[in-house]
Amino acid sequence: MKIVYFDIDQTLLRANEKAYEEIRKNALVKLRRPYGSLKEGVKFVKAISEKYRIDMNEVQEAYNNAAKEFFEKNEIKNFIDVYAGVSEMLSELYKSDEIKLGIISNGDSGVQRKKIESLEKFFDENLVIISGDVGTRKPEEKIYEIAKERAGAGNIFFVDDDAKNVEGAKDAGFVGILSKWSEDADGGHSDEYKIEQKNGIYIARKPSDVVKIINDI
Ligand SMILES: [Mg+2]
Repeated sequence: MKIVYFDIDQTLLRANEKAYEEIRKNALVKLRRPYGSLKEGVKFVKAISEKYRIDMNEVQEAYNNAAKEFFEKNEIKNFIDVYAGVSEMLSELYKSDEIKLGIISNGDSGVQRKKIESLEKFFDENLVIISGDVGTRKPEEKIYEIAKERAGAGNIFFVDDDAKNVEGAKDAGFVGILSKWSEDADGGHSDEYKIEQKNGIYIARKPSDVVKIINDI
């Protein structure tokens, strides 16, 4: 059996810019800091933490709460873009009897589950692991241990756009795959894919590369 866990944000999908802007604004209101134009997602937390010398965890919490409020009051599907090729990748993997799919995601359980609503059918419910449910987050060892325990015997893969999360999974014995398509909009035009590895971590420039890597191992 092969078990493939995925990160959600910037790997399967992204909230569109309108959503991010609202969330960032509301996070800054919570932190009582002025709003300026800033980078999105994880980088926002780091940038704000450095700029205003606020603890990263505090910024992350404000951001998570702002995201939670935003997605509670808005229709989530209007603010989510699933990356091109992601549905095809999941359905290709899903149709194999030898492969089971799961999620390892940091964030609020309700929000993260809502984001993947349109892709839910591909994932084994027991393999959907959200930090908000389990009280440990990537790249802490514990969350990967939980994932391993739930997966049972087999070859376990983990796909994430954040190198430190992939590194953590690799250290826990997973096959790590770093997804790059959130950076390169059309990530490598060529259909030719030569499996690429760096420090024991596989690089996937487009979703179909993940299928190739998994089938090859
Ligand atoms: Mg991510």
